[in-house]
Amino acid sequence: MTDMPFPPPADADDRRAIKPVICYPNETLPEAPMALYKAARETATKVDEVLIPARDARCFEVPAGQFFRISSVEGPQVGDLNLWNSKNLNERFFSGKTRALHGTHISTGERMWTSLPSLRPMATIVEDTLGWYGIDAYGGSVHDVIGTRCDPYTGNLLAGDHYHYCCHSNLTRALAAHTGISLREAEPYVHDVLNVFMCTGFTRDTGQYFMKASPVRPGDYLEFFAEIDLLGALSACPGGDCSSEHSSDTAACYPMLVEVFAPEEGALGDWKSPAVNGYDRSHGVPR
Ligand SMILES: [Zn+2]
Repeated sequence: MTDMPFPPPADADDRRAIKPVICYPNETLPEAPMALYKAARETATKVDEVLIPARDARCFEVPAGQFFRISSVEGPQVGDLNLWNSKNLNERFFSGKTRALHGTHISTGERMWTSLPSLRPMATIVEDTLGWYGIDAYGGSVHDVIGTRCDPYTGNLLAGDHYHYCCHSNLTRALAAHTGISLREAEPYVHDVLNVFMCTGFTRDTGQYFMKASPVRPGDYLEFFAEIDLLGALSACPGGDCSSEHSSDTAACYPMLVEVFAPEEGALGDWKSPAVNGYDRSHGVPR
């Protein structure tokens, strides 16, 4: 870039040297009562399980106050997770705000937040066997909220393909099958995901989204506490461990397991499902 139309100003280095500030300091976020969850979890028994077939998705339901665990079985596999309020599909996981509040990847003690205008915790991560991974030398980490979901439209845009087993299509089929609504009705409810077990980051030189082989191995799991009544859908991504490509049938893919656990009656004490956000919604217009 020798022919720079707008040359750097004299104080360019000074401007670049300004220290960043955190956009959303999260010290004032209500802290998840992790000790209470842990004690309740110790009383819990398994009440349901759903096996997600490779390159496909299934739905599952978790009432508020129960736990769900997503496990790697058979081989390294990445999962794309959608969550809705089971009583109102318009209240769904808000990937962008979760990223703004917690960062690009989430782990134990952090939460998945719902869309506006509810903006409340919908699920809290209570255990993460990949918590040891941290941030690697490439800036990569696991369980991101920066990717969207693999989808056939992007594949078509970039390569003219019509591949039908991207996570977007898998989630759409699963939601339609579970709720009885049509594919066309179901599709707009599918949203940006939590990329469970996926190892991703942004390249430092070009700022591009990258993925690398997931460190997940069979037996690893990510476990959540359901803060509200949840409908979930999980897709076992056609990218497998996402070491090379997705949006095709070439990667080795494995099933994934979702298990639901209910604590004993009274184990949560006076815990209550969080209320919707407190903003008055007048948007500056007098009522
Ligand atoms: Zn995918």
